[in-house]
Amino acid sequence: MTQLKPDSDQGLGTLCVHSGHAPDPATGAIAPPLYLTTTFERDVDGSYPRGYRYSREKTPNRTAVETCVAALEGGKTAFAFASGLAASLAIFEQLRSGDHVVAPREGYHGTLNQLKTIVANRGITVELIDTTQPAAVETALARPTRLLWLETPANPLLSITDLAHAIEVAHRHGTLVACDNTFATPICQRPLDLGADLVVHSGTKYLGGHSDVLSGLAVVRSDAELTERIRSWQALAGSVLGPFDCWLLRRSIVTLPLRMRQQCTSAAALADRLAAHPRIARVMYPGLATHPGHQIAARQMHGGFGAMLALCVRGGRDEAMEVASRTRLFRRATSLGGAESLIEHRASIEGPASTTPQNLLRLSVGLEDMADLEADLREALA
Ligand SMILES: *Cc1c(COP(=O)(O)O)cnc(C)c1O
Repeated sequence: MTQLKPDSDQGLGTLCVHSGHAPDPATGAIAPPLYLTTTFERDVDGSYPRGYRYSREKTPNRTAVETCVAALEGGKTAFAFASGLAASLAIFEQLRSGDHVVAPREGYHGTLNQLKTIVANRGITVELIDTTQPAAVETALARPTRLLWLETPANPLLSITDLAHAIEVAHRHGTLVACDNTFATPICQRPLDLGADLVVHSGTKYLGGHSDVLSGLAVVRSDAELTERIRSWQALAGSVLGPFDCWLLRRSIVTLPLRMRQQCTSAAALADRLAAHPRIARVMYPGLATHPGHQIAARQMHGGFGAMLALCVRGGRDEAMEVASRTRLFRRATSLGGAESLIEHRASIEGPASTTPQNLLRLSVGLEDMADLEADLREALA
């Protein structure tokens, strides 16, 4: 397969269509072929002139999606993993016993559980702080820290961390910065442009976009040593995304900008229209002027504020559960980022240790018509 070099001069829409693949030189096929091979033939001299040897190390469909996501995020190299959590673990695996990690108190519960169990059990200290408070970031990083983990907008309250500030403080102290960019996607936010060293995605969400492929990505901005460590760790751990999942993911990314634009527009309109609803105590959406992180989000996000929002229903757990049970278009399921709108009572999936408000419902706004989504929510709230 001919590889197009990622060209940072091209727009994100063009990269979504073309980055990482060109018409197949053998057949002229415009759409990328699916290479279901585990092994590749040597030349007569025993070498591998086409660069592929064995699929745990590298496969054409993985190269295609990795090339594309690296270009979209403005990084040098991307690695595709079997899930978002496999991608974050690949980064945590690069830490050594005695290292210190600072991470947000509010973030995807699976990532925080990795830090509290797998990472903490390896002799690495983990400090969870409120990264939305610049002073808390400065205080925490005064202690020698190997990695600052960020997530913004963060799951599930959609709180916003000032990326430029946190990255500046971290780099002043020689600390690496990784940012989970799952909620924003490169269409709305590019942390590497602001200086972050790594970006992580659950490709399961917006990049995959159709609720049919579990996947994760880690993107390195430029650190060559870190890149080689992750590359060799991935090949040794066998923590890779299979060819068909890579193909699905690459295919979905073609429409990422269109989907994001539509989903962001609907989410913003819903947030706006539901904010004054008598049965809703609070709407959390970074695009609302009332959101505490709005100013920062407006500065560091572009093209939209994402398509996730959270509603606090007046009352408690029972009232929130009742609303979740009454929507019809908003399907009651976990996950996010697909074409179908989803609604979820977040505290129940996070378990007894969850600090998420019991009256909070998280909404993933999909591709249905906005008027139908609004009617669905109004009916459930009636
Ligand atoms: C879903 C999610 C993850 C984990 O991704 P998986 O693909 O489910 O392993 C990580 N971060 C965020 C923000 C997520 O929403």
